[in-house]
This record gives sequence, C-alpha cells and structure tokens, in this order.
Amino acid sequence: MKCPQCGKENEENKAFCVMCGAELTSGSFSPDWKWHIKVLAVIYIVLASGYLVLKMFL
Ligand SMILES: [Zn+2]
Repeated sequence: MKCPQCGKENEENKAFCVMCGAELTSGSFSPDWKWHIKVLAVIYIVLASGYLVLKMFL
C-alpha cells in the first residue's frame, strides 16, 4: 500500500507508514462511518424538535 503522505510503498497489513508515520488509508473507514451516524443523529434530533415546536403552534 502506498503512503498518501510521502509515497513510500508499505506492507498491506501496516496501519502506519514506516517512513513518515502517517496513517494508511485502510484504517480510515471506521471514523467515517461513526461520523455519518453522528450527523444522522443530529439531523433526526433537529427534525424531531422542529416537529414538536410546530405541533405546539398548530
Ligand atoms: Zn509515508
């Protein structure tokens, strides 16, 4: 796997570049997924509170 930071070719099972210590791309999926869930939760909370406020006025 090629390092996105310095271009050094690393072994596939390495999580960090042996040259510069940058995180290799295979490990970046999990934080993205967690971030997505977080954003969805915030959207649902905003929608739910908006719906409750509307309900009070109608
Ligand atoms: Zn590197």
